[in-house]
Amino acid sequence: MEGEVNGSIATNEQRAFMAISGHRALDLLATLRDRHGNPAECLCRPADLDRWLGAMDLALPVAAVEADVRAARRLRETINDLTRALLAGQTPDAGAIRHLNDWARKPAIAPQSDTHLGLQWTADAPVNGALALIAREAIELLTGPDRALIRECAAAPACSRVYLDRSRSGRRRWCHMDWCGSRAKMASYRQRRSEADPAR
Ligand SMILES: [Zn+2]
Repeated sequence: MEGEVNGSIATNEQRAFMAISGHRALDLLATLRDRHGNPAECLCRPADLDRWLGAMDLALPVAAVEADVRAARRLRETINDLTRALLAGQTPDAGAIRHLNDWARKPAIAPQSDTHLGLQWTADAPVNGALALIAREAIELLTGPDRALIRECAAAPACSRVYLDRSRSGRRRWCHMDWCGSRAKMASYRQRRSEADPAR
């Protein structure tokens, strides 16, 4: 089924919290949906941030607070600005780089094993530590060889999702085949049909 989540079709809101970009920092950008049209915020409340972190395999022992949500949104927009500048071949904003560097220097959460080899993240300030981890991962991505694999979904501007193209052919066009890919296929199918039979 298309974008199925727990047996039902995923809403746009649910899709915004799904790890499909191949990188946590790029998945974070998707929590502001429809960037080229009517941007819709999905990180509204602390519980949203908790839910997003859980979806990214970063479930924490403490709950986020309002200030964490503001910090996450600001870090997200910083990573977005730098990613878009990279994709456009533009000079990245120095202030955005400073902000990302500041976050990457903060103490990050550390992985620990519980007594059953289950993953637990720990830090003195876990939510800040999770954002610091994402900032570090973002720097590794944006300064490393994988940055050449960053793409924006071919459905843009209708879709603003970016992802890492790790397909063998290097020709992944869609954020998710079942969302944007099948919609585009259906549109081109209708187009071909109407061209073949103009009376329709
Ligand atoms: Zn898409």
